[in-house]
Amino acid sequence: MRSDIQDIATRVLDGGRLTREDGQRLFAHPDLAELGALADHVRRAKHPEPVVTYVIGRNINYTNVCWVQCSFCAFYRRPNDITGEAYTLTRDELDQKIEELLAVGEPHGQVELLLQGGLNPKLKIDWYEDLFAHIRAKYPRAWLHALSVTEVLYIAKLSKLTVNETLQRLAAAGLGSIPGAGAELLDDEVRQVIAPHKETTGEWLDVMREAHQLSLRTSATMMYGTVETLDQRLSHLLRVRELQDETGGFTAFIPWNFQPDGTPLGETLANHRTSGFDYLRTLAVARLMLDNVDNFQASWVTQGAKIAQISLQFGVNDFGSTMIEENVVSAAGTDHTDEMPLAEMTRLIEDAGYQAQRRTTLYGLV
Ligand code: SF4
Repeated sequence: MRSDIQDIATRVLDGGRLTREDGQRLFAHPDLAELGALADHVRRAKHPEPVVTYVIGRNINYTNVCWVQCSFCAFYRRPNDITGEAYTLTRDELDQKIEELLAVGEPHGQVELLLQGGLNPKLKIDWYEDLFAHIRAKYPRAWLHALSVTEVLYIAKLSKLTVNETLQRLAAAGLGSIPGAGAELLDDEVRQVIAPHKETTGEWLDVMREAHQLSLRTSATMMYGTVETLDQRLSHLLRVRELQDETGGFTAFIPWNFQPDGTPLGETLANHRTSGFDYLRTLAVARLMLDNVDNFQASWVTQGAKIAQISLQFGVNDFGSTMIEENVVSAAGTDHTDEMPLAEMTRLIEDAGYQAQRRTTLYGLV
């Protein structure tokens, strides 16, 4: 191990906690393989078995109607859209997608429905309650990993409810857990530039805290590679770590880089593309800083299969979802296919030296 991070390496090997300054030094460390080795040590300490998990799941974007106009988003259509491209899926269309998922998955065990959409002014809480109750009754194998902090806040506002009431009613209707989407980069200076109409950092953390206190588990994500500094990436990691210390409610951490194509922000940041190197380095630093988060998920949708496979040496222990149909990232022109056949996912995992193991959304084994 190079001498300039020897002290950090010793602390990691001893199970000690890293500081912001340690994180700054890790980001500045030029030897990617060394960062990977340290992150892999932490991953193996938490998951000694040679297993990489995955979930059989589908992303359903139930509406693309959204007024928020995040500058990094190529998915939304405005509520007054005249292009004919705005949509809200009907109950029949949703059912058909769920049935396709159940047909693709093995005929037993839980499958994950990642249900997310834009902020559609026509959809109040009763629309979601009806939908969730319908899915729970008709498709009991489908786990609802649904909405985002942004959607929860908007449903609460539209329905004149508190966040707590909204979460309780959604959970009673069938919401199982909440994805960490909407976090983007948890720093208000950055949010002002990339998503000025979205919730603040404090609001995102508050909704996650309330969800955890109601026993709703959530994941945490980070979209890096826009206008943030490396120190602001560290602020994001430290904020997630602090809330996890308080609640223990995050199941997993999933970082990915901004996908610029077709987005207003992508035009502003022309030629600004993050690299595979940056992904692996950010992943390793996150694994080292977030000592209280058990699971790290690869983002093959944004990184492609090969980098996702290599990420298994950089702290990742989970390959995420087979994700048939992903619209938000693919709308921003990622080159990578928007679904991964189970056989291909298993091959990538086994080729990297691990056993592939199917899991539930909350990381129980199927
Ligand atoms: S990222 Fe989400 S909230 Fe922002 S514009 Fe796109 S759909 Fe709307």
